[in-house]
Amino acid sequence: MGGSHEHIVLLPFMAQGHLIPFLALAKQIHQKTGFTITIATTPLNANYLNSTIAKDSTTTTTTTAAQPQIQVVALPFNSSSHGLPPNTETTESLPLHQIINLFHASSALEPPFRQLISDIAGKDGRTPLCIISDVFMGWANGVAKSFETVNVSFTTGGAYGTAAYVSLWQNLPHRSNEGSDEFNLPGFPDSCHFHVSQLHQFLRAADGTDSWSQFFQPQLSLSLGSVGWLCNTVEAIEPLGFKVLRNYTKLPVWCIGPLLPPSMLKRSSSSNLKIIGDRTGKEPGLSAEKCIEWLDLHPHGSVLYISFGSQNTVSASQMMELANGLEDSGKPFIWVIRPPIGFDLKGEFRSKWLPEEFEKRMVESRKGLLVHKWAPQLEVLSHKSTGAFLTHCGWNSVLESLSQGVPMIGWPLAAEQGYNSKMLVEEMGVCVELTRGVQSTLVREEVKKVIEIVMDKEAGGERMKKKAVQIGELMRAAVTEEGGQKGSALQAMDDFVSFLQSERKL
Ligand code: UDP
Repeated sequence: MGGSHEHIVLLPFMAQGHLIPFLALAKQIHQKTGFTITIATTPLNANYLNSTIAKDSTTTTTTTAAQPQIQVVALPFNSSSHGLPPNTETTESLPLHQIINLFHASSALEPPFRQLISDIAGKDGRTPLCIISDVFMGWANGVAKSFETVNVSFTTGGAYGTAAYVSLWQNLPHRSNEGSDEFNLPGFPDSCHFHVSQLHQFLRAADGTDSWSQFFQPQLSLSLGSVGWLCNTVEAIEPLGFKVLRNYTKLPVWCIGPLLPPSMLKRSSSSNLKIIGDRTGKEPGLSAEKCIEWLDLHPHGSVLYISFGSQNTVSASQMMELANGLEDSGKPFIWVIRPPIGFDLKGEFRSKWLPEEFEKRMVESRKGLLVHKWAPQLEVLSHKSTGAFLTHCGWNSVLESLSQGVPMIGWPLAAEQGYNSKMLVEEMGVCVELTRGVQSTLVREEVKKVIEIVMDKEAGGERMKKKAVQIGELMRAAVTEEGGQKGSALQAMDDFVSFLQSERKL
């Protein structure tokens, strides 16, 4: 479809959970259309994307031509001039309360981005066919307009979580229902009650004048001015979320997800997937081979995997209770462990956040594997011994878990994770929520109880497992073509490209 002379420019927000799906989207568009794709980001993120592309043999790049087909351009960015530590270019290196500064700083990319579009237009002899910008970079709409091209917003989140997030910031201050901690969100059915504890923690008492609102309100409003939205989900797994997002944005919404490595979406055999290759390009605290070796020692569906994503930690007292509850449950587990804020991994205060000798006991009994900082998550989730995932409900983790039919224990910590967790519990029936945020009081008994509900067949685990497997099948169907019938994600990508070409002709 189309000629290779067209050019599309992608602008991700600077966070691991955004860069990875943006790169996957770039590959898909390129493979489908042959268009030249440029991803514009800050220098360190550009290095990271380039090294990920170099490691990945599935990325098409022309070695003979002067121009690779997926190119990454570094936009000048100086974090220090935005009150951030030097060389801070992703959310990962920042504690939660400072992340907002990186959001505000991201708007400083506008002038160099504008220059980039101008350079591309000069070189190609025409403006790019389209700019695909992160929903958090709504300012790209103004750039697209001034070059008379179109802007499409891409949400790396799911439909339900994105719709809740957008509605929340568009309708501040949120209004509690009379005398209760519950509230409704415009766009969602009246029967859909949200709770103040699901609100972004910096918004609980806010009236829209806090620095989070001051960033998200205008950027999301600008993104509502795009010609359409791309969403990293499958319509059939989130029918309510899709309906709300489409009605709320009043724009075309193309559900082109799940943007996962193809090996995660193969029609599965009963055996484990072999090494998929770390799509994050990070050095894991323990190699995939070692994790697999350890998982091989345990029975089918018996292991709990615990991870809070690329940037979150929980409090010292919560970690202590989590460790105790895990030990009480007797279930084997792999836990990606990061010290609570203010502590370091090997520091002398370790006994303040992990029970005495916990790691030693777990290693000796083979009950637990503590992986420091970063795990090969895809390999762990796709191993047949993994039976459940205790997750912060970041959308990439959710999709990865569902694609492998792994039910979840939710512990949402930030961003739209509270809404993702609500959807997983209420709409999909594949999750039980353990707690929310870093300030809640967690007790070991609750940890043990929730693990049993999700992992023990008779306690409800079997029902949740079955639903997760069904959802995984829907995700596979979305990316499969059978008997000339395209799955919904393939069709959405076709529709998106046709839409762009028709816009060009207008
Ligand atoms: N991830 C990983 N190993 C880890 C932690 C995270 O590979 O130890 C990957 C995970 O597979 C996912 C991404 O990092 O692709 C995290 O994205 P998500 O949207 O779940 O959460 P975020 O980090 O954005 O909060």
